[in-house]
Amino acid sequence: MSSKPILRQNKECSGCHRFLQKSEFNKDNKRKDRLSIYCKSCQSKIQKKYAEQWAKERSRGLEIPKEKECARCHRILPSTQFVKSKANKFGLTPACKECQSKRYKEYMKRPGVKKRIRRRQKELYTLPEVKLKRKKYRRKHNRIPEVRRRNRERSREYARTPEGKRKQREYRERRLAIPEIRERERQRKKEYAHRPEVKKRFKQYLKDYLSRPEVIERRKQYLKEYMQRPETKERIRKYNEKYFSNPDNLAKRRKYVRDYLQRPGVKKRIRRYRKQYYKRPDVKEKYHDYYMEHKTRPEVKERNRVHQRVAVKRKRRKR
Ligand SMILES: [Zn+2]
Ligand SMILES: [Zn+2]
Repeated sequence: MSSKPILRQNKECSGCHRFLQKSEFNKDNKRKDRLSIYCKSCQSKIQKKYAEQWAKERSRGLEIPKEKECARCHRILPSTQFVKSKANKFGLTPACKECQSKRYKEYMKRPGVKKRIRRRQKELYTLPEVKLKRKKYRRKHNRIPEVRRRNRERSREYARTPEGKRKQREYRERRLAIPEIRERERQRKKEYAHRPEVKKRFKQYLKDYLSRPEVIERRKQYLKEYMQRPETKERIRKYNEKYFSNPDNLAKRRKYVRDYLQRPGVKKRIRRYRKQYYKRPDVKEKYHDYYMEHKTRPEVKERNRVHQRVAVKRKRRKR
């Protein structure tokens, strides 16, 4: 740095001949002072002029060559290997795509470049006119189905990453912390669930879900386990006690059982089931134990004695 000659703060533009600060000139490493001879505004004007000129030429039917020499690597390449640029003759950049991307990558690798670009972009994006322009561009661009699909995919992918999940959760929490939004969301959910097509879809889904073999098995197992729980048994017992303390309910139930037993095949089915049931070793054991205990109860003993006496009397009478 110290070997650099001390230059005057201002420089004359070769276009507009104004003396301007050096920050008003683009870099040009080919020049001695490493600055362009034109100020930024003149350069952009010149570029525009060129663009117009070449556009005019092209509209007049200037033939675009099939091949072109790269200004950097000097290979002769098909014109598809050059980026389109309105400011150049034939509408192509001087250097080939490969050279340009190499140069760009090298440039991006230089220390501080990325940071600087990001900072500049951030500043730029806060400008109202830039914001509007970007919004317009996005809206237009998003109308392309391919773009929309890609964007959707990208955001879905992002939403699956831990960072994306966290961001989404934070966003939701932030929104739901506002009472009116929370109320609106609740209302919307309710309305959504009440829509006929949603109801229908949910019903269908539930039906499909409940008919899945593994779900049926799981529910069966759960129910079995649930019914074995002492607190469940107690609750059912209490409920029945209360329900059948109402004579109407009791009568209703009795009538139902009577009617049920009159249905064709029911009695037969019950008989068959009972036969099988009492053959089961565990049931046999249970009933044996129960019977042994039952027999010893005083009131049962008394009842049995009365029965026996009656039976004996009957026998005697028959003789
Ligand atoms: Zn100028
Ligand atoms: Zn090249």
